[in-house]
Amino acid sequence: MEANGVQKKEYVLVQAPMVLGMQEDLEQRYDVIRLWDDSQASLLQDAAPYVRALVSFHKLPLHLLESLPNLAIISNHGVGIDHIDLDYCCRHGIRVTNTPDVLNDDVADLAILFMLAVRRHLCEADQFVRSGQWVQQMFPLARKASGLRLGIFGLGRIGMAIAKRAESFDNIVAYHGRSKKPGVSYPFYSKLSELAANSDVLVVACPLTEDTKHIVGKEVLDALGPEGTLINIARGPVVDESALVEALVEKRLGGAGLDVFENEPHVPKELLSMNNVVLSPHAGSATWETRHAMAKLVLDNLHAFFAGKPLLTPIL
Ligand code: NAP
Repeated sequence: MEANGVQKKEYVLVQAPMVLGMQEDLEQRYDVIRLWDDSQASLLQDAAPYVRALVSFHKLPLHLLESLPNLAIISNHGVGIDHIDLDYCCRHGIRVTNTPDVLNDDVADLAILFMLAVRRHLCEADQFVRSGQWVQQMFPLARKASGLRLGIFGLGRIGMAIAKRAESFDNIVAYHGRSKKPGVSYPFYSKLSELAANSDVLVVACPLTEDTKHIVGKEVLDALGPEGTLINIARGPVVDESALVEALVEKRLGGAGLDVFENEPHVPKELLSMNNVVLSPHAGSATWETRHAMAKLVLDNLHAFFAGKPLLTPIL
């Protein structure tokens, strides 16, 4: 749009800051309204009728969406879209994009890191050396992390990256999902509890949906058993957190590596004192390189939208 020879920018509402450099790129190209900046509240109120694009990071309150009558695209900074009301978007003709693939390596690396750290008691070993206990006693024996049966719940983009890494540890991979994947030779279990019963390590890598909420509950945890390790790099609510805490307290589950939780950033206090649990603050994709690639994809989707070109990674 041109007004008095000056290029008029589009308003873009942004829910959280992007990685250094990319936020500046966004702000050069668009009139950015920073949702996290209270001093921009009145700007948002005035500009709301003209906002056509929103960059989302986490849950979007309905009243915010309803205050944006001309919203046409949500470019999500992340692959999981469980926090976006897709029905609302469908009803209002709002396009939605996400950032698949560019984060596969980081999230898969973290899953493997959890497998190694939980089984080999890495965090405990580090504390053992730092606190000077090594001069007084031997460190207790741990459990092997290679040559295991590794079950993957959700053999998608991230799940496949985990499987590839797990194979290099001589782990035997199997998986569960809604259906057997064509062209995949790993054994498929149609029941999640059967996969768990046949796994030493169970990695949760599926999306959070109405079907998957709390699907990893008592039955699955008991099938994994007192020597088993649960790893969740997907979404907290896929695991029934109370059932997980109970299983760990009662030693019906061997250990856990958790990047995601039901009520982030709050973590059940019982987990904080367990040395067979390794915790991480939803940091699966949190490296400079990957956050840069994710932000670039967010921007590229916006640029494509405003240029009237096909979206790069559309959900809707
Ligand atoms: P994807 O490529 O869509 O893979 C998801 C897999 O889960 C698919 O193989 C799918 O297989 C399976 N699945 C989907 N719905 C299912 C259901 N109802 N029951 C059983 N299996 C189901 O997704 P992705 O890119 O790998 O990402 C997976 C998830 O990881 C994301 O949704 C996100 O929540 C999470 N994530 C977390 C982080 C982090 O920071 N921790 C970072 C990125 C992503 P079928 O279709 O055959 O069932």
